[in-house]
Amino acid sequence: MNTKPHVLVLGGNFAGLGSAQKIREFAGDAVEITVIDRKNYLLFVPNIPADVFENRDPAVGQRMDLPPVLAKDGISFIQGEVTTLDVDSKTVHYTPTERPGAAPQKIAYDYLVVALGNRLAYDKIEGFDEYGDSVSDIYLGNKLRKKLWEGGYKGGPIAVGSARFHQGDGAKGLAPYPGGSIPDALAACEGPPVEVMLSVANYLKQTGQGGPDKVTVFTPAALIAEDAGEGVVGQLLDIASGMGFNYVNNGKDITRITAEGVELASGQTIEAELKIIFPDWVAHDFMRGLPISDSEGFVITDLLMKNPKYPEVFAAGDAAAVTMPKLGAIGHQECEIVGRQIACAVGRMSEAAANTPLEPVVYCIGDMGDNQAFYIRSNSWFGGDTQILKMGHVPFLLKMQYKNLFFRNQGKMPDWGLDFSELMAEKIAS
Ligand SMILES: Cc1cc2nc3c(=O)[nH]c(=O)nc-3n(C[C@H](O)[C@H](O)[C@H](O)COP(=O)(O)OP(=O)(O)OC[C@H]3O[C@@H](n4cnc5c(N)ncnc54)[C@H](O)[C@@H]3O)c2cc1C
Repeated sequence: MNTKPHVLVLGGNFAGLGSAQKIREFAGDAVEITVIDRKNYLLFVPNIPADVFENRDPAVGQRMDLPPVLAKDGISFIQGEVTTLDVDSKTVHYTPTERPGAAPQKIAYDYLVVALGNRLAYDKIEGFDEYGDSVSDIYLGNKLRKKLWEGGYKGGPIAVGSARFHQGDGAKGLAPYPGGSIPDALAACEGPPVEVMLSVANYLKQTGQGGPDKVTVFTPAALIAEDAGEGVVGQLLDIASGMGFNYVNNGKDITRITAEGVELASGQTIEAELKIIFPDWVAHDFMRGLPISDSEGFVITDLLMKNPKYPEVFAAGDAAAVTMPKLGAIGHQECEIVGRQIACAVGRMSEAAANTPLEPVVYCIGDMGDNQAFYIRSNSWFGGDTQILKMGHVPFLLKMQYKNLFFRNQGKMPDWGLDFSELMAEKIAS
C-alpha cells in the first residue's frame, strides 16, 4: 500500500525530467514519483541542427537513457503512451509502448505534472510530406542530413521559416513583470529558424555551393523572433542583410509546399529547392477540452505553474500555456517552481521559500556554423528591461558545453550554470 503522496509526471524530456528531479531535490523522501513517457530516452532537440549541418547522426549523440537516470533518484519510470487524463478522479490512462498489443492501463495520482510538450504539426502543412524538411527530431534531421551530404541537394535556393502558431487564452492576465504580460505570438519558437538560416549558409560556403544570398528566411509575424526583443532582433537582421540573406516578414502562415517553393497566406511565394520548415506547435488532441486546458489545449496555470481550478495539477515546459515562446530554457525555470510548490504542499518547504513566481527570460544560443554562435538573453517581451545579443566563438563553446554538462550531470545543471553562461557570453565574449 502506497502511503506517501504519489506525484505523477507526464513526459520525460526537458520539463518532465527536470520537474521530477527538482521535486525529489526539494520534497526528499516525502513523495513517491513516477514518470511516464512513450520513449525511454531524453532527446536533446536543440543540438540536432548542429549535427545535421556537420553531418553527424543525432540518434548517436543526442539521446540520454532515462530509466537509469531516474532510478538514481528513486523515481519510477513507465514507458507508455498517455491517452487520457481524468482530473476529477485524479487518474491517467496510458498504454504501455514497449511491445504492440499491450492492454490499456490506468494510474492514480495525488499531484500531477503535465510536461508532455506539444505536437509539431507537420501533418497540417500540405506538401510537407513530399517536399518539406526540418531538424526537430532524429528522423527529419537525418533525412535532411542525407540530402545535404549525399548528393540529394543540387545547390538551389533554400527557404527557412515557420508556420503560424495558434496561441490559446491560457496566459491572459498574467503579469510576470510589473506592467508586463504574456503577449500573443504568431510563431511558437523562432530561434531555430534563425539558427538554421545561419548554419545552412555556412554549409553552402564550406561546400563551395554559395552563401547567404541563396537563403530566404520567412516569418508569419511582422518581426522574426519578436519575443527576443526588437532591439536584439533589429541588430541580428542588420547583420543578416549585410551578409546577403533574404528576409520575408508578414507571411501570415504557410499555405502549401510544392516542388518549386513555399506558398504563404500573404500571397507571396518563395522559390526554393530546399524548404526547411518549423510547423505549428499544437497541443495533443486529448488535452483539448479538459477542465485544465485553455482554448487551444495548453494547460492553464498561474505563475507558480499551478492550475487555478485543480491546485494539485501543475504544468511545465511547452505544454504550459504560460510558456511562450516554446523554449526549453523557460521550461527549465518552471521546473524549479514546480519542485518547490510540491515540496511546500507536502510540508517540506515554507511558503516563503516556494512562492517565487515565474519571471520568464528568453535564453537562446543558436549555432551559426563555423564554430560560431549567437547568444540572446532578453525579457522585454514580458515587460522586463533586458535585451542582450552576443555573437562569436564563446557562445558556440557554451552551446556545446551546455549539452556535455547536461549529459554528464544527467540533467541536473549546477546552480552556477546560467550565471556562468551569462558571465562567459556577456563579459568574456564582449
Ligand atoms: C530545432 C529546435 C531547436 C531548439 N533549440 C532550442 C534552444 O536552443 N534553446 C531552447 O531553450 N529551446 C530550444 N528549442 C525548444 C525546445 O526543444 C523545447 O522547448 C523543449 O524541448 C520543450 O521541452 P518539454 O519537455 O516541455 O517538451 P518535449 O521536449 O516536447 O518533451 C515532451 C515529452 O513528452 C513525451 N510525450 C508526448 N506525448 C506523449 C504521450 N501522449 N504519452 C507519453 N509521452 C508523451 C515525448 O515523448 C517527450 O519526451 C528548440 C526546438 C527545436 C524544434
